[in-house]
Amino acid sequence: MRPDILNPLFIETDALDGVGPKMKKPLEKLGLSRVRDIAYHLPERFVTRRAVQNLDEASEGEQVVIALTPTEHRGSNGRGPYRVLAQDALGNICSLTYFGRASYTAKKLLPVGEQRWVAGRLDRYGDMLQIVHPDHVVEDGAETLTRLCEPVYSLSEGLTQPRVAGLVAQSLDRLTELPEWIEPNLLAKREWPAWDEALKLAHKGEHLLSRDRLAYDELFANSLALMLVRDANKGRKGRALQGDGSLRDKLELPFALTGAQSRSIGEIEGDMAQGAPMLRLLQGDVGSGKTVVALEAMLIAVEAGSQAALLAPTEILARQHFETLRQMAAPTGAEIALLTGRDKGKAREAILMGLMDGSIDMVVGTHAIFQDSVSYKDLALVVIDEQHRFGVSQRLMLAQKGKRSPHTLAMTATPIPRTLTLAQYGEMDVSRLDELPPGRQAIDTRVVAQERLVDVIEGLARHLESGQQAYWVCPMVRENETDDIAAAEQRFLTLKERFGDDVVLVHGQLRPEEKDAGMERFASGQAKVLVATTVIEVGVDVPNSTLMVIEQAERFGLAQLHQLRGRVGRGSEKSVCLLLRGSMMSETARDRLALMRETQDGFLLAEEDLRLRGGGELLGTRQSGDTPFSVATLEQITQLLPIAHDDAKLLVDHDGGLASERGEAARVLLYLFERDWGVQLLRGG
Ligand code: ADP
Ligand code: MG
Repeated sequence: MRPDILNPLFIETDALDGVGPKMKKPLEKLGLSRVRDIAYHLPERFVTRRAVQNLDEASEGEQVVIALTPTEHRGSNGRGPYRVLAQDALGNICSLTYFGRASYTAKKLLPVGEQRWVAGRLDRYGDMLQIVHPDHVVEDGAETLTRLCEPVYSLSEGLTQPRVAGLVAQSLDRLTELPEWIEPNLLAKREWPAWDEALKLAHKGEHLLSRDRLAYDELFANSLALMLVRDANKGRKGRALQGDGSLRDKLELPFALTGAQSRSIGEIEGDMAQGAPMLRLLQGDVGSGKTVVALEAMLIAVEAGSQAALLAPTEILARQHFETLRQMAAPTGAEIALLTGRDKGKAREAILMGLMDGSIDMVVGTHAIFQDSVSYKDLALVVIDEQHRFGVSQRLMLAQKGKRSPHTLAMTATPIPRTLTLAQYGEMDVSRLDELPPGRQAIDTRVVAQERLVDVIEGLARHLESGQQAYWVCPMVRENETDDIAAAEQRFLTLKERFGDDVVLVHGQLRPEEKDAGMERFASGQAKVLVATTVIEVGVDVPNSTLMVIEQAERFGLAQLHQLRGRVGRGSEKSVCLLLRGSMMSETARDRLALMRETQDGFLLAEEDLRLRGGGELLGTRQSGDTPFSVATLEQITQLLPIAHDDAKLLVDHDGGLASERGEAARVLLYLFERDWGVQLLRGG
């Protein structure tokens, strides 16, 4: 149960003055549904303004305070904006421009012939100077306006800065003091303010100390929850499995294991021999050979007389894994089955029977393998592929399946930096495959100007003539997925004109069957070119595809580029990756592409990616999707997460039940950041 002390923060935004059904929508668009969210809607930046005598003195884009006298109102006649033409002391004209309902305010605020002080950003529209939605219009008080340091919030349509600032002020008024959860020495050393104070300061100016404190709170909450999961897992009953090697000895692998593979298998074997369930992450770049490690782990379970399951994120990946594992495992005689949502009727019944009576040793599948209708005789190991698609709470759900928890081995090909590994998988032990199997060919990576598209298409034609296939990735151009798909569709048509039915298109808005059908045509070699938005299936394996074209590569992060490039270089033929770049490139983008040319080491790229982005990041910019955090910036994560992690570990080691005074405070924190799944694991929590 959420502590009562937090109740005022968790009421819906319509409890605030001025929020009705109309306003709730734009707020929700920003992810703001409760008072808490608004208090945590931190400014993107702050503005200060300069007072100018007349318009000539100001430069375009500048934030100014200026005295203007309205001369004329031009209504919006339905479409276009509402304009108030106004002149400065010298008679220079500028337009005060209002869109939508804001025009009602304009009518009242700016009577013709009366001087007003106007604060806002001066821009140009055509040959007219203008200020769009002035921040302030007052009769007098130029002094105050120039002294103001005002927060700038991210908005959505239907919201204005003053509106949001007003809601923030109301939310901050509702803050109560909360018990301190930060370790006292740390708090003193860093000179961090108390929680409520920190939130208030963070909205007032660039108080880095308070920003850091707020970020630390979030990081600490996350680490603490993960540590509680880890702790609960230790107390859970698993089964100590000892494989006798009888099946593994029968494998006829056409290669010797790399050092990293042997080491990882050793670590897994060690974990599985323990009474507490294993929670281990196997991190390894694309092509590092995770599959055989998974197989060895599964065979340990089977040797010990139990069953193992491998969970894949998509149907097609499940199928690919099944084929690979079946072939590899054939000499062992272990029984392996595939179960996906598509299996129906008798075939499905037979598999369910086999899992129940134990005649099936290993099963590969999608979520279908964990439906309630599926029961196992003795499931002892769950392998989850492409872990990042499953959140912590889903992992917990799996761990609770059955009376005795199975061992869990999670696998990910996303080489994330060490700090982010802590953030996302802090409750797990990590094995890293940091060594590629020998004999891999380097992928020839080149940066090519987008204008040379025609040449690239000719190159593609020659490539296809040699019998090989290719991927063609279209970027996320805009926020809007539909627009991206339109761009991909257009490229698809261009290529189709040239290559006919050899081209297939796959994107996120296709129905799963359509998507799978397209992928299958490509995987089977019927189609030669796969055009895709960034949704290219993680882990898809088509060794004959040896060319990767990525359009507007400068828009992608390093980690993403690396992930995409990893689709090629899987066969014996030399592979090429063409990074098409636009003409407008930032310094950082240039650095990124240069790095891509230089190295293929995913872990190195991931660290560099964090460094490049962390440095150039704006105050309060959210890195959507990459991290589980909404307050902490990449820079703060890098600096503060290791501390938060250690501190959380200490607290849980000393007070696993969160029963001490600080433990109680920490519970409040977990609820504040909705990491309460951690609390629910506490005995009697
Ligand atoms: P991942 O799943 O980590 O991307 P895979 O398990 O699919 O990588 O392995 C990629 C390829 O490398 C497969 O063809 C596999 O048979 C091969 N492979 C795995 N381990 C070795 C090794 N030690 N030596 C040579 N080839 C290997
Ligand atoms: Mg794989």
